[in-house]
Amino acid sequence: MEKSNEDALSEARRYLTDLMVFEGAKFVVPIEVKAEKASSPQAVESTVDPMAPAEEVVALVGEEADADAAPIIGPMAPAEEIVAPAGEEADADATDLPMPATAIVAAADGQAPGQAEEPIADDGNALDIFRQQICDCSKCSLGSTRQNFVFGAGNPAAGIMFVGEAPGADEDRQGEPFVGAAGQLLNKIISAMDLRREDVYICNILKCRPPNNRDPQPDEIEQCEPYLKRQIELIQPKVICTLGRFAAQTLLRSSDSMGHMRGQSHQYEGIPLVATYHPAALLRNAEWKRPTWEDMKRVRQIYDGVEL
Ligand code: SF4
Repeated sequence: MEKSNEDALSEARRYLTDLMVFEGAKFVVPIEVKAEKASSPQAVESTVDPMAPAEEVVALVGEEADADAAPIIGPMAPAEEIVAPAGEEADADATDLPMPATAIVAAADGQAPGQAEEPIADDGNALDIFRQQICDCSKCSLGSTRQNFVFGAGNPAAGIMFVGEAPGADEDRQGEPFVGAAGQLLNKIISAMDLRREDVYICNILKCRPPNNRDPQPDEIEQCEPYLKRQIELIQPKVICTLGRFAAQTLLRSSDSMGHMRGQSHQYEGIPLVATYHPAALLRNAEWKRPTWEDMKRVRQIYDGVEL
């Protein structure tokens, strides 16, 4: 059966949105700013207008997201706009964050951070030591139904920390966070932010999969959240990005809808927090990709130290 004009238009719009937002979208700066950057590495950060329309800061550069590729400029971008150099500064920032000089971990029996803490000799290993201490946890019923404990993955000194809800079937099978279809989309989002998955840290509120992907129960959150809190203390990210309503509601102690929480300035334990949609939700609702991209630009700006 032939598609109606409306269907065809809708399909084309969805394709363009996908392409523009997550298939190699790049941050771009005006050419004169790039010239300034050549003489002053700080010039770009201080000159980029964080309030510029999305179309002015997104360029289409093809799937490989290669700074050397010939750029196709976003529909409203001035013709002279060019793709910014690949994020050398970002990579440097991601590895420059200091670990606490006297990192400590909570006891493996689940006592809240601050209780029964022990000094760690090697700061760089603190996160891994903490993982080893809690990986056999059975404080809630999910400990007996999981295949694998899913602690988290990424740079232990990351500037950006993504926090989702709980492991799904793929994550439970592999013991890694965000490895299914939603994880693939998250990888694209991170790439569009001019970062690599290994530059950031990714984890969930719960470390074990709820059966049949049901919603986490209050007692499970209560038992597991101190682990996340400790991870945040050890990683000390510049910005936390919650993925999905559940993660945002948990960290913000809120019952607001996603629509109310996103686009607002939040903090968790003094760390800026940006709430956005879960990648799995984006797979079902393509129209949420644009607002998600706006949120990701905000995450990147906080990470870059751009005043908002
Ligand atoms: S979900 Fe958290 S509290 Fe429950 S068993 Fe797993 S690690 Fe322990």
